[in-house]
Amino acid sequence: MKKIIAANWKMNKNIDEALSFVNILESKLTEELQNSEVLIYPPFVSIYPLKDLCSKVKLGAQNFYYKEKGAFTGEISTLMLKGLVDFVLIGHSERRHIFNESLDLINKKVLVAVENDFSSMLCIGESLEEKESGKTIKVLKEQLETAYKDVDFNKVKRLSVAYEPIWAIGTGRVAGAEEIEDIHKEIRVQLKKIAGKALSDEAHILYGGSVKPSNSKELLSKENINGLLIGGASLQINDFFDIIQNSEKINK
Ligand code: PEP
Repeated sequence: MKKIIAANWKMNKNIDEALSFVNILESKLTEELQNSEVLIYPPFVSIYPLKDLCSKVKLGAQNFYYKEKGAFTGEISTLMLKGLVDFVLIGHSERRHIFNESLDLINKKVLVAVENDFSSMLCIGESLEEKESGKTIKVLKEQLETAYKDVDFNKVKRLSVAYEPIWAIGTGRVAGAEEIEDIHKEIRVQLKKIAGKALSDEAHILYGGSVKPSNSKELLSKENINGLLIGGASLQINDFFDIIQNSEKINK
């Protein structure tokens, strides 16, 4: 299975900066990618201008609203994203906590993404308090079950889940690779119960939280870490490129 190396730019980079980054990245990716899918989640305004520049790089949307159109000031729908992005990010902890997105809203977004044929990347993760009180698996299970409620898995082509422990996002604190591998195995067990064997066997389970070039190799060497979702380090072209190169080397 190819590893997904995904950049979550959050609210960073204007259009010029985004174009320049992708220009350089595309020119550095001289060889055909063998082991990796490279994906960028830019801010909305850069998606359209980036589209023509991308040949090896895929694009995703950091967010969207679940209604198709109407009086929802400031929102973007999946209808508007059609043809522009392959992936949509759902349930990032910043959306859950800063923008108060509920389990129910996240479920509605997953349902709409499936109906509109987008690959959804569902972010799940526990807080430090939940981790310290031994609730990690319980929390992840609940997040998965509620997000995928009523989904018609016959319509789902591929599943991707990003495990992002909240205490590791932007903090420099990374969970140990072994610990993450064990959690990813458990996530796959839960996915099997929810979505069936075929989809869960093929599901990409990514890790996110303070990934850097220096820790990416070990993380990517694990069988059940099928990719990385990268915030801070994805803003620097050299760091992001180094992580892609580490991914390319991993199965060789
Ligand atoms: C993220 O927010 O998805 C993330 C993983 O951020 P960082 O890499 O900066 O911890």
